[in-house]
Amino acid sequence: MQLNLNTCFTTLENFGHSLKSSSYRIPIKKKEDIYEAFQLAKKLGLKVTARGTGISYNDASLNGGGIVLDMRGMNQIVEWDSTTGVVRCESGVTLEQMWQRVEPDGWWSPVVPGTMKTTLGGCLAANIHGKNNFQAGPIGEHVVEFTAMLPTGALVTCSPKKNADLFYAMISGLGMLGVFTSITLKMKRIHSGLITVDAWHVLNLHKHLSDLRDHAADHDYIVGWLDAMARGKSLGRGQIHGARQLKEGEDSNPQKTLQLSYQHLPDRFFGILPKSILHYFMHPVINNLGMRFVNMGRYVSALRAHTFRQSHAEFHFLLDYAPNWERSFGRGGLIQYQSFVPKETAEDAWREMLELSHRNGLPSFLGVTKRHRPDKFLLTHGVDGFSLAMDFKVTDKNRASLSAMLQEFDQIVLNAGGRFYFAKNSETTAESARKFLGDDAISKFKKLKRRCDPNGLLESDLYRRVFG
Ligand SMILES: Cc1cc2nc3c(=O)[nH]c(=O)nc-3n(C[C@H](O)[C@H](O)[C@H](O)COP(=O)(O)OP(=O)(O)OC[C@H]3O[C@@H](n4cnc5c(N)ncnc54)[C@H](O)[C@@H]3O)c2cc1C
Repeated sequence: MQLNLNTCFTTLENFGHSLKSSSYRIPIKKKEDIYEAFQLAKKLGLKVTARGTGISYNDASLNGGGIVLDMRGMNQIVEWDSTTGVVRCESGVTLEQMWQRVEPDGWWSPVVPGTMKTTLGGCLAANIHGKNNFQAGPIGEHVVEFTAMLPTGALVTCSPKKNADLFYAMISGLGMLGVFTSITLKMKRIHSGLITVDAWHVLNLHKHLSDLRDHAADHDYIVGWLDAMARGKSLGRGQIHGARQLKEGEDSNPQKTLQLSYQHLPDRFFGILPKSILHYFMHPVINNLGMRFVNMGRYVSALRAHTFRQSHAEFHFLLDYAPNWERSFGRGGLIQYQSFVPKETAEDAWREMLELSHRNGLPSFLGVTKRHRPDKFLLTHGVDGFSLAMDFKVTDKNRASLSAMLQEFDQIVLNAGGRFYFAKNSETTAESARKFLGDDAISKFKKLKRRCDPNGLLESDLYRRVFG
């Protein structure tokens, strides 16, 4: 690899375009390139961060002044066994590439986030969760094994039985212990390209959370939309979608529905408007007044309970329907704040946060809820409870007050025994992280870091913020 650092110095952003930092971006095509980049970083005294698609909502894959390894060039699906459902990929393979390879053979990824654009390396480093977190756990629970390169140049292979301490720390470890090169995952069987979805409305926060809890067991997936602008008796109202995979025999023509053409997300809105420009039309309504009407309209349209069938891609990747939708939030971008709170305390905590956002005139424009369970990864965000993700528009005028409010949110979440997710929040401080992770987990992580990365080469903006 010929490196000219002057030509690769570039400005990178987070998904929400609310953060920027300039770094040396080095394209990685093979594992030897990673080793060379580590050598170079050591020589020049620079820090290194791996970056997949770069669509974390925060600073997880930003590294101001340092080297960013662009992993998207390591994008080969190396082995796919359609009889066992085991797939081995390079870490820059995207979920989109992976599901498109396995789905026609009757398999689906056991865990997916709300977008198919993420890389597998990014998914393991954050230990992503899906709408089935309450039963399937995070993606790490479906990893058969992975290989990662440590900053020393050593390659380590880990599984739940082999190098188990590293397995449970590198998955969720934000790329701070090593760089994934190869990932082997076990897919789950599907008998149709379709999924059955039940949709119903909920009147308030209490009903919202009790329905998520009580109806999760009857569904494979459950997710709520929460109107974060509704107040008073309607606070926390919204709509729940509970989905079930079809059993063998329920789909009369699985050969047809499992075809990729059946999963295709339309690239035009109403058959006319290219979806790539939809964000220009969304922009004028992305403000307090516009979004009040949008949320109200959405709630009214949700009043009729109904059941329908959708393709897997349509159900899981709703946010990919409108590419660049985050651009509609304007120049200052957006911050997503996601908290994970135990089932016993979530209602009070979120009532307090929603009311605070209303009093401050800083409401969230979109709220999404999910049901979760704990897991045993070292930097876990899992709880026996729920998560609420809230999208906030950032402007020059509100940036400071929004940041102050989100720090107040942190205190409410911590007092409620909650946790945060390192791929989303951009405000979590080192003190908050220590409170929810605990001294024991942090010192275990730091001990492993000293073992894997004795020269402290792996650092990101997030690492410096949360563990610095
Ligand atoms: C629209 C949208 C919806 C989302 N929905 C969900 C959701 O439902 N559930 C959920 O859990 N998350 C969700 N996310 C968050 C997203 O899944 C994570 O941020 C994911 O990590 C992004 O993958 P990426 O390839 O862009 O990683 P990046 O943002 O590039 O990197 C994320 C982290 O992974 C590390 N990393 C990347 N590649 C490697 C590698 N090869 N080796 C070691 N470390 C590496 C980086 O250093 C960084 O710490 C969503 C994001 C978006 C934009």
